[in-house]
Amino acid sequence: MENPDIIISILSAIILSLLIAVIVFVQQFHKSQESLKKLKDSFERLDEQAKLIVKTDLELNKAQEELDKRLNGLDALQKTSRRITTTLDEQEIFQRLDKSMIINFGFEKNLVFIHDKTGKLQPRLNLGFSDKDVLTIIAQIEKDTSIINTLKEGHTISSANAQHQRKEFLMRLLNSNYFVLAPILTKNGMIGIVFVGNSAYAETVTESDEEIVSILASQIGQATENARLFEEAFRASQILETKVHERTQQLASALEDVQNISKSKSEFISSVSHELRTPLTSIKGYASILMAGKLGEVPEEVRKRLEKINIHSDNLVQFINNLLDISRIESGRVEMNMTKCALAAIIENVHDLLTPQLKDKNIEWKTDIDPNIPDMLLDQHQAERIFINLISNAIKFTPPGGIIMVKAHANSQVVAVTVSDTGMGINEKDIPKLFDEFYRVDNEINQQVKGTGLGLALVKKIVEAHRGRIWVTSQLNKGSTFHFTLPIQ
Ligand code: ADP
Repeated sequence: MENPDIIISILSAIILSLLIAVIVFVQQFHKSQESLKKLKDSFERLDEQAKLIVKTDLELNKAQEELDKRLNGLDALQKTSRRITTTLDEQEIFQRLDKSMIINFGFEKNLVFIHDKTGKLQPRLNLGFSDKDVLTIIAQIEKDTSIINTLKEGHTISSANAQHQRKEFLMRLLNSNYFVLAPILTKNGMIGIVFVGNSAYAETVTESDEEIVSILASQIGQATENARLFEEAFRASQILETKVHERTQQLASALEDVQNISKSKSEFISSVSHELRTPLTSIKGYASILMAGKLGEVPEEVRKRLEKINIHSDNLVQFINNLLDISRIESGRVEMNMTKCALAAIIENVHDLLTPQLKDKNIEWKTDIDPNIPDMLLDQHQAERIFINLISNAIKFTPPGGIIMVKAHANSQVVAVTVSDTGMGINEKDIPKLFDEFYRVDNEINQQVKGTGLGLALVKKIVEAHRGRIWVTSQLNKGSTFHFTLPIQ
């Protein structure tokens, strides 16, 4: 009987142990399930993080690529801009825009069109198209006013920003899946169009591409404008130069004509004066013989007429002599007889000669002559004629009671002389012509007193023959001053 109890106990123990084992196992199983879940969660998190890393890496790579592309583009742009802005020849701008640069911008096709004078687009650069293609492209773009107007407003058109229909049209026309069209603008509006494009699907047009092409177009615009301005300025200066050259030649030939005419005039005056002098001498001689009574008694009335003939003949001889002297001095035919002279003595001689006229008109004579003026090399006779003419005029045009003053002062090179009067003065408009031959001012005194208008012309010629200068200053009704210089040596 003991055995069954033992067996039962053993069995109970076994069952209990089994139960305990099952419980332990179940507990363990639960625990390992939790660990498994935790492990799975960790794996999942790790997986997500790995995906995130890969994604970030891809994005970083893309950004890096974009940055590299942008940098390349900017670098190419800088080089291009340096090349095209350093020439002022429009033709050369496009020669300098070579194909490798366009490739550096990341494009394989390129067209540059510029408007000609009639406003038609003309190709200036072509990369990737046949001539026939280019003509078609120009014709189609010119026909599409909406494209031209968008460009004229300064916008770029690209495969990224164009509306579907326009994009499709341009993709077909330009045979490019990705493209940018940018206007070439100057101050005077659009002068052309730049196109760049790619047929590959791999490339996309980014904002920076558009920006770079648009900067390139504006660089081309600026360089072209500068070249045109330079060309215009250069052409204008050439026209001016040609005109100046022509005008100079005309003036030189006119001057030659004037010199020839003046020479002929001098020769004519000289020969006429000679011809006149001979008969005049006879007239004067016969008048003198008659007056002297050598051919019989001369009645008083006849004598008076003969005296007039004599006076008029003298005036005429004087006139002819002046004419002859002017033309001789002008043509250099008068030999200046230069000797050392004292200017003060010359002035005093002339004063002596003209004292009767000064007294007749009750004109006061004053001088201010520098005593240190050295003796000068002058033709004494001609120098006296200068003073005789100037002082005679001063007497003629100064009313009684007036003053005539002669001043002479020296510096290291010249003696400056002035002959002033307190007479009627000279109108400003007459001054420039005063020293011309035969010029006489239209005034009351000249209407009454005869004159030839040769005195001042002769004075000027004599002063200039001495390498001096003469001019006049005057105030109406106050008086005139004739200034002249004579070199000391
Ligand atoms: P003429 O005395 O024979 O007329 P001139 O050549 O000597 O010729 O002078 C030209 C003109 O200049 C004169 O007619 C006169 O009107 C003007 N003129 C010259 N000297 C004087 C002067 N001292 N005051 C005013 N007018 C003068």
